[in-house]
Amino acid sequence: MLYQRSSALFKEAQEVIPGGVNSPVRAFKGVGGTPVFAKSAKGAYVYDEDGNRFIDYINSWGPMLLGHAYPPVVEAVIERTKLGTSYGMPTEIETEIAELAVSMVPNIDKIRFVNSGTEACMSAIRLARGYTGKDKIIKFSGCYHGHSDSFLIAAGSGASTFGTPNSPGVTQGTAKDTLLANYNDIDNVEELLEANKGGIAAIIIEPVAGNMGCIPPTLGFLEGLRSLSDEHDVLLIFDEVMTGFRLAKGGVQELKGIDADIVCFGKVVGGGLPVGAFAARNEIMNHLAPLGPVYQAGTLSGNPLAMAAGLAMLTAINSDKELFHRLDEKTEYLNDGMSKVLDEYEIVHTINRIGSMISVHFHKDPVVDFKTAANGNNEQFKRFFHSMLKQGVYIAPSAFETWFITDALSYNDLDETIAAVRQFAKEES
Ligand SMILES: *Cc1c(COP(=O)(O)O)cnc(C)c1O
Repeated sequence: MLYQRSSALFKEAQEVIPGGVNSPVRAFKGVGGTPVFAKSAKGAYVYDEDGNRFIDYINSWGPMLLGHAYPPVVEAVIERTKLGTSYGMPTEIETEIAELAVSMVPNIDKIRFVNSGTEACMSAIRLARGYTGKDKIIKFSGCYHGHSDSFLIAAGSGASTFGTPNSPGVTQGTAKDTLLANYNDIDNVEELLEANKGGIAAIIIEPVAGNMGCIPPTLGFLEGLRSLSDEHDVLLIFDEVMTGFRLAKGGVQELKGIDADIVCFGKVVGGGLPVGAFAARNEIMNHLAPLGPVYQAGTLSGNPLAMAAGLAMLTAINSDKELFHRLDEKTEYLNDGMSKVLDEYEIVHTINRIGSMISVHFHKDPVVDFKTAANGNNEQFKRFFHSMLKQGVYIAPSAFETWFITDALSYNDLDETIAAVRQFAKEES
């Protein structure tokens, strides 16, 4: 048995950890089977407890843009650890990474560091509400902004009026302040704004969606959100937890030339340590405690080890002029290779891609929103996942996730991946 030790560890974990995991998607519920327990990782590869090697397309769900155990990050954390791991006092390194982030990202003056993307998005909407004095927010079906109450709202039949919670424990009181819109549907957003005139604090969006597969914005959609936000005096929040420092130095704001009012970060910004951040212009950020009345805090926020990892990561990204071009080329190569093979075996598919994000959908139509993403052939995706895994390629255990391309991937790795897709295609026909 290939995963003997992983199976044993999973069994043991389930006794003391709910479902055996500390974050649900790791449990393979979407694809079935036993989760693989990681032991170590280096560059483009992750190694499990049974000694299997996988080409890794999850990369800790995004942070490892430059590959696992990236030496400058490892070095920075080791050196910093020797100086103590946390003080609860301000440190110079927090200013250093803040200065660098502000220099890389358009349209922000100040940034505050927190411990996760969830915290960043949760704090961003509190700030937006505090700044505007309004309560409601608009989010998009299929966009994920972490697990805080306001965002765990799914579309029901009443989607265009009030959201309904999709987790027990989220109160109706909270749910009624979150309105749902369809991704890439600007008319829907306008309707919501018109129907709730004067009541909406913010529109929050993944400007390139990555939590229902990879779904880029259609032409004019983000521009439309920007102008509607201005017209209705609503703050536009870009949740760039996934895309920030990944699709460009300055994220989607830079890539698409659109300014958001508040930007959220996570994943890459921490270089693999627990970090999130949110940022905006002075007029907005100065509403935050201790300068202003909107409260937000954290015992371990701006933790020196996390900041050291993030600073090493951002420094590397900032100094490599060719990085995003290389990533783009690798992703395109993989896209073309997989597409050719799937075409050859007449497997119906759509591949979405932008920069270093890519997703394969077993669906003939364009995948542009949650509904079309959900229409994919999930049974085929499960077979795809397990076939790839068996062949040493680790993709996300869900049809609703993007793959993350890292700079550590060689063309040899990409060829191996395409060969694995060919094997899958053979098995299917
Ligand atoms: C991952 C993610 C989050 C949540 O970040 P955590 O660090 O998991 O709390 C929020 N928004 C987006 C777009 C994400 O991809």
